[in-house]
Amino acid sequence: MEFKHCDILLDSLDNGYIILDDNFIVTYWNKWLCINTQISQEQIMGKSLKEFYPDLNYTVLQRKIKTALSLKTPSFYDPNSNTKFISINRNKVTTSSLTLMQQQVIISPYLINEKKVIISIYDISELHETKLLIQQKNDKVTELNEALEADKEIINQNIMIMRTLANGVIIDVSMLFCDFFEYEKQNIIGKSASILKIDESSKCLYEELQNIIINKEPWSGELEIKTSSDKSKWVEARISPIFDEENNLIEFNTIYYDITNKKLLEELYITDALTKLYNRAYFDEILSSITKNQRKADINFALILTDIDHFKSINDNYGHQVGDEALKAVAQTLKKALRENDVIARWGGEEFVVMLKNVTVKEAQMIAEKLRSVVENEKINDLLTCTCSFGISMYIASEKIDDTFKRADDALYEAKRSGRNKVMTKL
Ligand code: GH3
Ligand code: MG
Ligand code: MG
Repeated sequence: MEFKHCDILLDSLDNGYIILDDNFIVTYWNKWLCINTQISQEQIMGKSLKEFYPDLNYTVLQRKIKTALSLKTPSFYDPNSNTKFISINRNKVTTSSLTLMQQQVIISPYLINEKKVIISIYDISELHETKLLIQQKNDKVTELNEALEADKEIINQNIMIMRTLANGVIIDVSMLFCDFFEYEKQNIIGKSASILKIDESSKCLYEELQNIIINKEPWSGELEIKTSSDKSKWVEARISPIFDEENNLIEFNTIYYDITNKKLLEELYITDALTKLYNRAYFDEILSSITKNQRKADINFALILTDIDHFKSINDNYGHQVGDEALKAVAQTLKKALRENDVIARWGGEEFVVMLKNVTVKEAQMIAEKLRSVVENEKINDLLTCTCSFGISMYIASEKIDDTFKRADDALYEAKRSGRNKVMTKL
């Protein structure tokens, strides 16, 4: 009676159940097994399992049955081991290549006196498939991570990068950055980015950074930065702000490109080798950019042409080398006496040209007078002083630039003619 109830119960369950004695005689085979193995209860019940599954490892099965009966506890078939229980084809259409059902098999004591066990078979194929899928995904992630690490290493060695928080604290720098700016990585992480010695002329950067924060846009520009041992380097910096999902600024990512050589070439191109003032070609370029880019009526500048007095006799009396020293000294004296915005260049031999932007004639005359005076009072060496003559003209909107030069030159000639070490103006 009891047994029949049990049959009905086991037949209705969605797992396999076999009742087996220790001689492997099947005394019960539930419906689920009939469907999945295509072996009917009539065919198998009362017969040995060996007739239907001769390949099973009966030594292991015997041991498991003995354990279950003697210890009165279930024993498991390890689903991962090679010792599989009965093989069942999967009847579901699946996405994986798994054709045989993966099973969890438990051998539990049933009627101990009759040495019978009940074997439960659970289909864990889907669980197994999920495991496989996770494993495949993990393998892919590992593969991607490895590729990413390799990329990071290439970047680390070949690109100068600095990452800072929004407040400017450095959180990462690449190896090339450290090599280039001569910093030890561990000494620079956690410091403020202002540790970088950015040249005064590039300090506008900090104002521009404010704009990045407000406009949320990247910035790029050329900066002169000194290395930790004070070597001057030029870089093009590209600063990208990084935002979180709520559009709050969280980081700055800066990539630097070494443009030192380009800058040196540029400088060489516009500089007079002896005096280190701008050369004539660059002065012409500045002038033409002013006359091209501004409305004629808005242009206001004075030109001063200056020429060292009796320079020939300096060369004759002291030699060409002293002449060169005198030229350099006069050039630097003139430059130092001028304002930041004024432009001075070597015009030719021992002649210089100065452009004073946005001045009146009076102001231009005062500045020229100051120049005359500083040169007169500057000693070239213990024995030698120099004087210069100056000619001033003011740019007139209706004229060509050559005419402005002509008048400055005429004024200079006038200064020479009237005794030298003088300032003359021709309007
Ligand atoms: P002035 O007061 O009329 O200007 O007399 P000056 O002797 O200066 O006249 P001039 O313009 O005839 O002479 C300029 C001299 O400058 C001639 C040239 O040998 C010399 N000179 C030009 N360039 C250089 C240079 O690079 N180095 C040296 N040492 N001398 C130069
Ligand atoms: Mg001269
Ligand atoms: Mg001359």
